[in-house]
Amino acid sequence: MSDIPFLDLHAINLSYKDQLQAGFERVLNSGWFVLGGELERFEQAFAQYCGTRHCVGVGNGLEALHLVLKAWGIGAGDEVIVPSNTYIATWLAISYTGATIVPVEPDPETYNLDPDRIRAAISSRTRAILPVHLYGQPADMAPINEIAKEYGLKVLEDSAQAHGARYKGKRTGALGDAAAFSFYPGKNLGALGDGGCITTDDDALADAVRVLRNYGSRVKYHNEVQGYNSRLDDLQAAFLAEKLPYLDRDNELRSKIATRYMDALSDIKGLTLPTIAEACQSVWHLFVVMHQRRDELQQALQGMGVATMIHYPIPPHLQPAYAELDFRAGGFPISERIHQRILSLPMGPTMTLAEADRVIDCVRNAVSELG
Ligand SMILES: *Cc1c(COP(=O)(O)O)cnc(C)c1O
Repeated sequence: MSDIPFLDLHAINLSYKDQLQAGFERVLNSGWFVLGGELERFEQAFAQYCGTRHCVGVGNGLEALHLVLKAWGIGAGDEVIVPSNTYIATWLAISYTGATIVPVEPDPETYNLDPDRIRAAISSRTRAILPVHLYGQPADMAPINEIAKEYGLKVLEDSAQAHGARYKGKRTGALGDAAAFSFYPGKNLGALGDGGCITTDDDALADAVRVLRNYGSRVKYHNEVQGYNSRLDDLQAAFLAEKLPYLDRDNELRSKIATRYMDALSDIKGLTLPTIAEACQSVWHLFVVMHQRRDELQQALQGMGVATMIHYPIPPHLQPAYAELDFRAGGFPISERIHQRILSLPMGPTMTLAEADRVIDCVRNAVSELG
């Protein structure tokens, strides 16, 4: 029997071969490669998909986060509230601006920022809250927005893992003051390389990030501010525009795998399944379980030909990159406990139910062997 890959990017993109080739030919024939018509077309389509007035394509998800914070004038002396258990990019975007990272612990069940812990982290320097829709499930945005309103803070969604997910019926990207998306190949909507975008209803913000992404320039060779070079290539935009009409279908296929896992794994003792909040519709970027003996479980599955991953093995505050902040082990116990136990099972739109069933059998056997 062949091994079950964690995510078969090769198969996913081959299934779009005709569409991707059509996109490539359009760009080649147009002769425009940067800030051209393909980018505009995709920006309009993705804004419409999310239900926002604007979408601004940028170089990657990290830059999308960074440019929004920059456009809001956030910098040294300011504080930004962020989950303690996110991918390091969310933290790095804050570091880029010189602002101070204020980590807040997640809800141990949903893994998303716990709104009840936010107030205690707010100071007179707090400028923004940066919730992450982790693993494809929207953060609990209603209370987060309420707190932000009360204290006059901005809300920036990190939606890099949640293209198409819904909260109270509304799509991510339209749930805060602005949102950042990544189109890294492994995301639910992935390019054939790096890419990202910002969505917002705020005309002034959209204008500001359009200027920032293009050397601080609105008119060629006239530079209003010290900007960046962070644009979504027309070629990647063309690929994304071709794939976007199938995003809901692909998310639905992920959802079918998730439902199968949920139904079949729920009775396994010692295995904690994902919790999806009532208000949320996850797009299952990842299917993350927890087990006390995670490393042994992962090894056993590896031996059975089932590839798994850990998202993420080390929380940002314990990374050498953030040694300077002097966070200690034990400083964010919920996050640390999660990082020690989580395991991501194979998940993707080209995965079959038969493959899911094999994963289920292997997990069942592996857990029972661990005793
Ligand atoms: C992938 C990811 C990013 C960064 O996106 P890039 O395009 O890789 O820069 C940011 N935040 C989260 C939660 C991510 O998963």
